[in-house]
Amino acid sequence: MSTGAWTLPSLGGVCALVGEGLRPLFDCEIVWRGDRIVEIEANSNGRLQDVEHIVLPSFINAHTHIGDSLAKEAYIGLGLEEAVDPHKGLKTKIISTASKNDLVKAMRSVLEQCVSLGVTHLIDFREGGLEGLSLGREASQGLDIDLLLLGRLATPPSKGRILENQGFTDFELEELHKVCEKGNGLGISGANEYSDKMLTQIREIVRGQNKLLAVHCLESHETRGRLKGVLGRDEFQRCFNMLRPDVFVHMTDATPQEISYAFNMGVVVSCPRSNAALGNGFPPLTQILNGGGGLGTDNVMVNSPDMFREMEFAYKCLVGTTRKPFQRVEEVLKSATVNLRPRLGLKPIEVDAEADFMVLNVRELRPFWNLHSLVVNRAQRENIEQVVRKGRKLYEKPVCV
Ligand SMILES: [Zn+2]
Repeated sequence: MSTGAWTLPSLGGVCALVGEGLRPLFDCEIVWRGDRIVEIEANSNGRLQDVEHIVLPSFINAHTHIGDSLAKEAYIGLGLEEAVDPHKGLKTKIISTASKNDLVKAMRSVLEQCVSLGVTHLIDFREGGLEGLSLGREASQGLDIDLLLLGRLATPPSKGRILENQGFTDFELEELHKVCEKGNGLGISGANEYSDKMLTQIREIVRGQNKLLAVHCLESHETRGRLKGVLGRDEFQRCFNMLRPDVFVHMTDATPQEISYAFNMGVVVSCPRSNAALGNGFPPLTQILNGGGGLGTDNVMVNSPDMFREMEFAYKCLVGTTRKPFQRVEEVLKSATVNLRPRLGLKPIEVDAEADFMVLNVRELRPFWNLHSLVVNRAQRENIEQVVRKGRKLYEKPVCV
């Protein structure tokens, strides 16, 4: 091995899940130099029953709200609007009365937890306008996690202005331009929170800056038709025709046709634990996985940012709601690891990709019959031995003495 290169691991029984398809390579050795993988070698005679370590791409948590980590479990007994409505939800009340220091501390603690859970990238809906963005940046300072912040206005427009189809004021437009510029794009709480004119203005701002545009869409059956009687189009039609986002978050109430339209325009990110916990039902996961969708843990108020838990719930939800066996469990793992990588300019585990991966010790989980299912349905935080981001160790399991 040449100077400056790292090899992982110098142990036997390593299986790496490589490429877009997470294909298992047995008895594998990964060499990286700087932030890049330079060599992957494997033994074609390797066997499943000898696997003791699994190397897989790090998690991309494709939808979070780390800002409500001060309100953990406060949603119990509440429906969607009572919990998270941007005007009157309990989350808004808790956050608006909290000190900045407490907010930053709570967000930082969630980000540290994410690193130890194998998450290297988060796509976060950041509330609170420009100040919200700077608090998010402060919370992530010094942590080598990629926190993509999708901002919004500090104060959402009133319902009256939406129903009259007013546009943004000059002051709001300036704020939106700055939020988009300072963050990674805009994260829209829902088409029902804006007029048709405003949705078009949001699209133009984000496109003008070539950034990311994401929106909550069809989170529940109730949100679909809320403004149809007044504005003539339902929530999906308004998102699709006016906002034209890159990321449709939720799509819990979507028809197969709507899922397919959304994938023609961008990508769908599903948050099944959040949908279930807030009483919104179960998303159409078969179509979302078939389209190459992502997975997110949504509000920290409702869920831990744990992608292992999200994957297991997603798999069982899919089988339970369709009442059919689902063989391709690797599709669930892909939604948590590789499906969104191209949109972030990243690659799966392959030569010349950035060295972003985690190492699971699965010795105590042996014997097992399905590698992908082992990770989706059984692995957990305690199995993580290392998390590597751009060739640097972000996390290493503490050794008990
Ligand atoms: Zn959300």
